Amino acid sequence: MAMKKIGIITLIIITFLSACQSNETSPKESTDNSTIEKELNKKESIDDVPNDEAKDQASDETSEQKDNINGEQEKKEDYVNEDGIVVISDPNDIHLVVNKQRKLPDGYEPEDLVVPNVPFSFDEWNEKKQMREVAAKAMEKLFAESAKQGMELVAVSGYRSFERQKAIYNYNVETQGLEHAQKYSAMPGHSEHQTGLTMDVSAATVAFSLEEDFRQTKEGEWLEKHAHEYGFIIRYPKGKEEITGYSYEPWHIRYVGKDVAKEIYEQQITLEEFFNLVP
Ligand SMILES: [Zn+2]
Repeated sequence: MAMKKIGIITLIIITFLSACQSNETSPKESTDNSTIEKELNKKESIDDVPNDEAKDQASDETSEQKDNINGEQEKKEDYVNEDGIVVISDPNDIHLVVNKQRKLPDGYEPEDLVVPNVPFSFDEWNEKKQMREVAAKAMEKLFAESAKQGMELVAVSGYRSFERQKAIYNYNVETQGLEHAQKYSAMPGHSEHQTGLTMDVSAATVAFSLEEDFRQTKEGEWLEKHAHEYGFIIRYPKGKEEITGYSYEPWHIRYVGKDVAKEIYEQQITLEEFFNLVP
């Protein structure tokens, strides 16, 4: 209870601080999906996120209890917007599928973000330490068990707000042009990091980098074999680029719950294939 209050107060303070503060040092972050974002990270100014229209609050439905793995049922109320993009109706669904064709509702922000108690590649506060509570708890179990097996996994980048993604995207448009930006960076609402169900992880032996090399570390190998036991999948597997729209990312894990993760792992398929949402 007290912890939760402290958490909420901390969040409020941070929201205020981040409105006025810039130039936090940000560690190397991938950006999954785009080399451009890496450059962005060198330019700290992108971290000041423009502020701050009041955000639409996400619906109060908490649906993480739902364990219906029948995707078709769950996706029924999604709708297609004027740009031909599917807007996800229930952004709190742990089985949601966000990709280049499917986006979160504008301004979506999870209501239950917490910082998992796991080692990070950096010390200072950053919104990207957060995950949704259900994913954070699973993450703690995964890290604890991997440590027992002698692994030294490190968390690098989790939640990314709509505003930060928007700032990154707009920056890319300004500096690289629209076409390039569209190709290499996720548009706001289309980044899986905005769901709060994702974390990029790495290891000291590859200097916490988010590169394919990570797969060659003992941590990377362990993660590929065991992530599903804790409810996570390797979201962008090798050889599935056409389906996911993204290159192989052995470091990017996504929480989907144990049942779905097990199926996906055993069948060696993607989240899109599992829910019959292959573009
Ligand atoms: Zn990622």
